[in-house]
Amino acid sequence: MDTVELDKKYVLPTYARADVEFVSGKNARLVDSNGKKYIDFTSGIGVVSVGHANERVNSAICKQLSNITHMSNLYYTAPQALAAQKIVEASGYDMMCFFGNSGAEANEGAIKIARKFGERDGEIKRYKIITLQHSFHGRTITTVKATGQESMHNYFGPFPDGFVYADNIAQVESLLDDHTCAVMIELVQGEGGVQPQNKEEVQSLEKLLKSKNILLIVDEVQTGAYRTGEFLASNVYEITPDIVTLAKGVGGGVPIGVVMTGLKEVFTYGDHGSTFGGNFLSATAACEVIDILSEYKKSGDLEITSIFFNQALEKFYSENKNLFTSKVGIGMMCGLRVKDADTLGKIIQSAKENGVMVLKAGKNTLRFLPPLTITKEEIDEGFKSLNRAISSM
Ligand SMILES: *Cc1c(COP(=O)(O)O)cnc(C)c1O
Repeated sequence: MDTVELDKKYVLPTYARADVEFVSGKNARLVDSNGKKYIDFTSGIGVVSVGHANERVNSAICKQLSNITHMSNLYYTAPQALAAQKIVEASGYDMMCFFGNSGAEANEGAIKIARKFGERDGEIKRYKIITLQHSFHGRTITTVKATGQESMHNYFGPFPDGFVYADNIAQVESLLDDHTCAVMIELVQGEGGVQPQNKEEVQSLEKLLKSKNILLIVDEVQTGAYRTGEFLASNVYEITPDIVTLAKGVGGGVPIGVVMTGLKEVFTYGDHGSTFGGNFLSATAACEVIDILSEYKKSGDLEITSIFFNQALEKFYSENKNLFTSKVGIGMMCGLRVKDADTLGKIIQSAKENGVMVLKAGKNTLRFLPPLTITKEEIDEGFKSLNRAISSM
């Protein structure tokens, strides 16, 4: 049986997969099972931040695996301690880390910290967490409920109580009450449509929450690891959240999730745990990815790439205003709003046929999350293919 037949027979049908099977890649280039070549403007949904088959990451992983892969969190793991140091130092915050394996799991950790904080701190038990409409926080029962999209709450109940949705940042204040322990936001909503929040609004929310002793959780699962130009979007927005979650881009393709917080004493022995979290494999990958990206940032090359990519995207946008209504996003997390939702599917399909992979976000946004290390040649080639895709529609 070929891959498609095997998948259809043995893998549960939770994904409407595109009809393509990738077999190899190099930086922003991909090859499928027919030998056809593509430019990758998705980086596996913001994961392969340092490009496909990154030699430094692969060699660090291989070296580590030839010694030891896993021994659990019952013992010290040098790469985990190092990864925590690198993440905290890159963030510039006075925080500590907990390691899990995914974004949803990182958010679960954040919610547990906020709930325990709300239980202990103050006279009455505080448990409510305010999240935003069109947010996305994950697929576990709790993070599905934290996600402010009604369409995701159709089944699976009863859900954990205590999640309240604000239409936008400005509405949050009117929803705060004596039971509120935290507000959880994405600074640029990813799945919701590449929607950046307003910086002043976020900064005044931060002040308001501090004055009320309510925690600010920033879900940086998609925005983190230099996607928006700094290590965290929180750095771009010049705020200091109480809790930050990371995943996607941090491991360069190896599954890892991180919850980091300045509340260093809320969790104590036994409060949280993970079998795999931060093991030798994933933590080694994270260490190398962060080293690569922080050098890339320091050298100025990240900014050069981001400017070049955004100029190419702007040009593509201005030449196709019959299809697109606006360009959105920050850094290398970009989108084009498509005039009507039907056209979006056609663009993505035609792009694939013409050798460039792009993503959908929300109902009507064409989303671009290229590897941060994408080259000028790869960017030019990708937009050439996109132009071909549009003309052949
Ligand atoms: C992808 C994503 C998640 C979920 O991450 P998983 O690793 O799929 O569990 C959570 N929050 C945001 C903002 C995301 O983009």
